[in-house]
Amino acid sequence: MGQGLSCRANREDGFFNAVQVGDLETVQILLQRDPSLLNQPTVYDKLSALHIASANGQIEVLSLILGRSVNPDILNRHKQTPLMLAAMHGKISCVQMLLQAGANILMFDSLHGRTCLHYAAYYGHSECLQAILSAAHSTPVADSWGFARFVNVRDGKGATPLHLAARQRRPDCVHILLDSGALACASTGGYGYPGSTPLHLAARGGSLDCIRELLAWGADRLQRDAAGRIPYTVAVKYKHGACAALLNPSSAEPLVWPSPLKFISELNPEAKVLLERALMEANREREKNILKGTPYSLPSPSHSDVGAEDNISEVSEAELCCICFDQVCTIEVQGCGHQMCAHCTLALCCHNKPNPTTTCLPSPVCPFCRSSIAQLVVAKTKTGEEMDMDVSSSKLTKSRKSRNLSEGSSSFMGVSAMGSFGKMGARGSGKIAADSGDCGSGKIAADSGDCVDKP
Ligand SMILES: [Zn+2]
Ligand SMILES: [Zn+2]
Repeated sequence: MGQGLSCRANREDGFFNAVQVGDLETVQILLQRDPSLLNQPTVYDKLSALHIASANGQIEVLSLILGRSVNPDILNRHKQTPLMLAAMHGKISCVQMLLQAGANILMFDSLHGRTCLHYAAYYGHSECLQAILSAAHSTPVADSWGFARFVNVRDGKGATPLHLAARQRRPDCVHILLDSGALACASTGGYGYPGSTPLHLAARGGSLDCIRELLAWGADRLQRDAAGRIPYTVAVKYKHGACAALLNPSSAEPLVWPSPLKFISELNPEAKVLLERALMEANREREKNILKGTPYSLPSPSHSDVGAEDNISEVSEAELCCICFDQVCTIEVQGCGHQMCAHCTLALCCHNKPNPTTTCLPSPVCPFCRSSIAQLVVAKTKTGEEMDMDVSSSKLTKSRKSRNLSEGSSSFMGVSAMGSFGKMGARGSGKIAADSGDCGSGKIAADSGDCVDKP
């Protein structure tokens, strides 16, 4: 009897080992002899073969097991699903296969009450995170919970996936989550210090990249946790000096992704990438000035990795943005075909304020012909490759700009003070001068406070 048990235990060990290393042949032979092995969990952790294959990225074994109609949501000792383990270990192909097999994305483990989305965010596997979010658009979860609620799903201590990603220094995941509608200002219940926002947790983790993302999406530097601390206080306490400098409420306001752009339905993805890069670039310029003279100065050249300097001479006057005379036209208004640079497009959209009487946002209008902007696309005159170069080179010939402006030769409705975001950062004033959306009112200096997206 005892011998029989140990014999069975040996067979199980052999089976689990074969699953773990992806030895498909052995798995098949052992399953032929004893099909019940599939539903046999390991002794302590209660891991099934499906868990082991998922956690180890053994896609062929996983496919074999799923083909035998095993429940894809089988639970281990901690009520973790195979999907959670695949997301934890960043096994993207297993995540995809489990989702295709109908794995439930809304299961909660018994350790911290977390979902597969929490796991992907915590461990920083952005591909897995993206795959789960895509699935959330089409699974029953979208109908029963709604996508927005799922993105902000809380664990047992009130932490959303965004809280975890911010705390664990995962800027890619932070970006994807914010882009998918994660709330930048949500407070935790008991995760971290009670009442912490993602910005508090990013300050605790000390990730400049996460802080930059959060600020660009409107995270509030003045929001307090349950102890009354703002994120700046947290960064100082944990000696993250550069983070503290950015979070200091007295340093220049960050530029925030403008809300009118959020309301252009399905903003052209390529145009969006250009605009996002322009925004981040402007904020990095701003950071450089905040950190200048501190021990935390950023390495220069900050983050432009393309050898853009060589291309500048090839840019003809004709391609320069007619608003700022500083950058190359990369964005085109669909319909009228007018072009401007990404920085000016952002400035234009930042300027629009919600109408206080209707509380709806006016759609941004083309500064050249005043037609309302329904869609922005990448300017057609150049190849995408050239565009990449242009965007990463924010510094075009300054002499051109000053000459044009001093001569007052702007072809753009008398605007004389239109600066690029980079320049504004350099002045550190946080002011944006932009043409107003109001018909015929000429030029108006707009405060960058308009950019802040207050929900
Ligand atoms: Zn421009
Ligand atoms: Zn136009």
